[in-house]
Order: sequence, then structure tokens, then C-alpha cells
Amino acid sequence: MKITVDTSLCIGSGTCALTAPGVFDQDPEQPVVVVLDDAPPEAQREAVELAVNSCPAAVIRLIE
Ligand code: SF4
Repeated sequence: MKITVDTSLCIGSGTCALTAPGVFDQDPEQPVVVVLDDAPPEAQREAVELAVNSCPAAVIRLIE
């Protein structure tokens, strides 16, 4: 599982950091996502899929 995010289109909602806090965080200096782990373990799949499906800007991609 590999994650990519188009940070140029992130609107900084923070939804991903709430749904998968071990994988995503937010930059304290600017409202944009920080990917903490771009190749998370399978145990994180459900949370990552929820983050992908919940992102209001639809900028998170999950590559199998
Ligand atoms: S959920 Fe989407 S728009 Fe919101 S901070 Fe995460 S990547 Fe950015």
C-alpha cells in the first residue's frame, strides 16, 4: 500500500489526520496535509481508505 497526495490542492480540512492520525498530520505553519507514512502497514488500510473517501478535496490516492 502506497499513498500519494497532491498537496497543491489540499484545502487543509484535517479530516485525514483525524481518521488516520498515524499516517497523516497537518503542518502547524500552514493548512496543508503532512504525510507521516507514505507506505503504511496493512493494519492501517481501513483508516487510510476512510481518509481517501472522506477527503473533501479528493487529493489522496491509494496505490495498491
Ligand atoms: S482530508 Fe484532504 S483536504 Fe483535508 S487535510 Fe487531508 S488531504 Fe488535505
